[in-house]
Amino acid sequence: MNPVPRGPFAEGDKVLLLDSKRRRHLVTLKPDGEFHSHAGVLKHADLIGADEGISVRTTKGARLIAVRPTLGDFVLEMPRGAQVIYPKDLGPILMHADVFPGARVLESGVGSGALTMTLLRALGPQGHVLGYEIRDDFAGRARRNVEAFLGPDVPLDIEVRDIYDGIEATGLDRILLDLPEPWRVVPHAETALVPGGILLAYLPTILQVSQLRDVIAESAFGMAQTLEVLQRTWHVEGQSVRPDHRMVAHTGFLTFARLLAPIE
Ligand code: SAH
Repeated sequence: MNPVPRGPFAEGDKVLLLDSKRRRHLVTLKPDGEFHSHAGVLKHADLIGADEGISVRTTKGARLIAVRPTLGDFVLEMPRGAQVIYPKDLGPILMHADVFPGARVLESGVGSGALTMTLLRALGPQGHVLGYEIRDDFAGRARRNVEAFLGPDVPLDIEVRDIYDGIEATGLDRILLDLPEPWRVVPHAETALVPGGILLAYLPTILQVSQLRDVIAESAFGMAQTLEVLQRTWHVEGQSVRPDHRMVAHTGFLTFARLLAPIE
């Protein structure tokens, strides 16, 4: 995994440019590169060697702030095949699935790789992510996205396969699911996870949650919980300090459970 770049901007770094209207543009610095927008042109050379956080001006005098994108920024800006899980849910998923450094995690489907990157960062070079993705094109897109942000040398293997047909791996610490029928994975997860291992599923509708919980209730999994994460941003400007008028009202529900031993 490439170390997170630090210090002054260098060639090859990703840079997030913010204009006065807080519009965001992601660029990769090249010695002779130029960023073009309606607000004028900025030469990448004006950024290379500068410290993060610098304000620069385009040829038309517009001001741009330049910082390195966070993982959350990158997930929102990167090319997508499938719909991604948003930072609002990615953080809580790490906590509720208890993804720890060195963990062996199975993720399915892989989609655009937003959760994959989040997992790789949390489990570090000693851990491993095994991805099962049914679509070859999405697997390729996810690999490219992961490599663009974390570099080529990551503990990740993506297999193009249908997880409903079974899980070949064993001794997994965690299984994370973002696909339409996770209840079909529960029997496979019982043999693939270590004792005490955690199964977590992200689901957009409550009828899916209900179906999953019914299957979990009849399985070797216990301690099941379901929750949704509500995030409300605020408008903070002078005397006007209040919740924003618009919010993302719904993304998905998180359901998680632990693999338990049969009661004697
Ligand atoms: N969590 C991902 C998005 C996943 S979208 C992210 O954050 O970027 C759901 C993915 O599941 C799609 O890519 C879809 O192709 C895949 N999928 C659906 N059914 C599947 C199955 N049975 N086995 C493997 N992958 C599956």
